[in-house]
Amino acid sequence: MLNQPPYQLYIAGRWCNARSGRTETVFNPATETALAEVAFGAAQDIDDAVAAAAAAQAGWGKNSGRARGAFLRAIAGGVQQQQEQLAHLQTANNGKPLSESLIDVGDVIATFNYYAELAEQLDDRQDQPVALPGAGFTATLRHEPCGVAALIVPWNFPMVTTAWKVAPALAAGCTVVLKPSEITPLPELALAAIIDQAGLPAGVFNLVTGDAEAGAALASHPAVRKVSFTGSTVVGQAVMKTAADDLKRISLELGGKSAALLFADADLELALDIVCGGIFFNAGQMCSATSRLLIERSIAQDFTARLKQRVESIRVGDPMDPATQMGPLSSRRQYQKVQQYIQQGMAAGLKLITGGAPAQDKAKGYFVAPTIFADVPFDSPLWREEIFGPVLCIHAFDSEQEAIAIANRSDYGLVATVLTADSERASRVSAALEVGLVWVNSPQVIFPQASWGGMKKSSLGRELGPWGLQAFQEIKHVVVAAPG
Ligand code: NAD
Repeated sequence: MLNQPPYQLYIAGRWCNARSGRTETVFNPATETALAEVAFGAAQDIDDAVAAAAAAQAGWGKNSGRARGAFLRAIAGGVQQQQEQLAHLQTANNGKPLSESLIDVGDVIATFNYYAELAEQLDDRQDQPVALPGAGFTATLRHEPCGVAALIVPWNFPMVTTAWKVAPALAAGCTVVLKPSEITPLPELALAAIIDQAGLPAGVFNLVTGDAEAGAALASHPAVRKVSFTGSTVVGQAVMKTAADDLKRISLELGGKSAALLFADADLELALDIVCGGIFFNAGQMCSATSRLLIERSIAQDFTARLKQRVESIRVGDPMDPATQMGPLSSRRQYQKVQQYIQQGMAAGLKLITGGAPAQDKAKGYFVAPTIFADVPFDSPLWREEIFGPVLCIHAFDSEQEAIAIANRSDYGLVATVLTADSERASRVSAALEVGLVWVNSPQVIFPQASWGGMKKSSLGRELGPWGLQAFQEIKHVVVAAPG
C-alpha cells in the first residue's frame, strides 16, 4: 500500500473522512494489487464541499487577477518540484508507461503557468470601454466568474483533464469542487496536497472522491453555477439534462471515434509513427484516439503489412520499466469491455491483422495486445463505437472526397489526422472535416494556447486557450447615460 498523499476528502482547507466513514480500494492495473484505501464521498460530502466553495466564492472572485495568478504559479511550481513522484503515482494508479506520465506532468505545469498568465492579464481587461454609436451613453465590459464550479473528470489522463479545468476556473475567479474518477483518484489527491501547500484560501478548492453517486450529486447541486464535465457521451448527456433544471452553464468533453486519413504521397515512415501513436499511446484509452485508419487503396496492402510488423514490435509490459511502450488498461471493467469488442470482431469474421488475444504470458494485469482489423464494414460496432482501447480498424478509400465522407460519417467529431505531402490537399481536407482539431503530418501534440474540443457528440464548448477561461466567466456590460 502506498503511504503518500492523504486519502481523505479535501473540504474547506481541511482533510476529512467521508461522512459515512466509507472507503474504497484503489488498484494498480498492472498487478491487480491494492494501492490505497480512499475515502468514498457521497451526497452529504458534496453538500459540505459545495457549501465551502460557495462561502469562499465572493472573496476569491474579488481578488485581483494578479493575486490569483500568483497562486496558480505556486501550484505549477509545486507540481514541478514533485514531477517524478507524481509521474510514478499516476503510472501506479493508471497503468500508463512512466514516460507518458512524465509528459502528462509537463502538460499540467504548462497549463497552470499558462492560466496564471491569462489571470494576470485580466486586471487590465476589466471595465474596458465599449464603442457605442450614440454620444448620449458610455458602456464598459466586465468579465466576472460564473460562481461555484463542479469539475468532474475521468481516469485516462487524470491530472491533465483536471488541470485543464482547475487552472482556468481558478484564474477566472471561480471556486471549485473537483470529483476525480473512482478508478484513478491518487494523482488528484497528490495534486490537492500541492494546492493545499500553495496556501489558497480555505474553500476555494475542494475535492471529493467517490463514484457516479457523488458525481451526480455534484452536477445537480443547486448552488453549483457551472459544470465542466469530461467523460463518456452517455453520462455527459445525463449531466446536460440535469443542468437544464437550473440552467447551469456547462462544458462537456466526451467520446470520440476519430479518423486518420493516409494518402499515398505521405511520408510512410512518419505515418507509421503517427498512426501507432494515435491508437496505442495510453493503450488507446484516449478520447482523441484515431481508431479508424483510412488508407488510399494503392498503398493499403503494403502499408498494412508494414504496420503489422511495427505493431508487433511494441513492447507491452510493466509500465514502470523505461523500455515499456504500452502498459495495461486502467481497470478490469475497461479490460473486459475491450476484450468483448475484440471477441465480437473475431466472431463476425473481421480480418484480423494482428493481436486479438490478451497480451503477455502474465497471469496478472489488464494487458491487451495491440490489435488491428482490416476491411472493417461501416456498420460494424467496431467501426462505429468508441472502444477506448488498443484496437485499430482499417478501411481503404479511392478518392479524397470518399475519404472525407467516410471520416465524417460518425456521431463523433473530436479530432482527425491528415497524412499527405500535398499542402493544398491538407488544407482542403482539414477544412472539410467535421472535427475540432486537425493534425497534419503531426503527432497528437497539445498546446495550452490552442483549443481542445470537437463537434457533434464529442463536445460542447472548448477547453484550453482563452476559450477555456471564458467557459468559467460571465459577461456583464454596464451602460451609463450621460448626465442630462
Ligand atoms: P464516465 O462518463 O463513466 O465517468 C467520468 C466521470 O463522471 C467519473 O468521475 C465518474 O465517476 C463520473 N460520473 C459517472 N456517472 C455520473 C453521473 N451520472 N453524473 C455525474 N458524474 C458521473 O467516463 P470514464 O469511463 O471515466 O471515461 C472515459 C470516457 O471519457 C470516454 O468516453 C472518453 O472518450 C471520455 N474522455 C473525453 C475526453 C475529451 O477531452 N473529450 C478526455 C478524456 C476522456
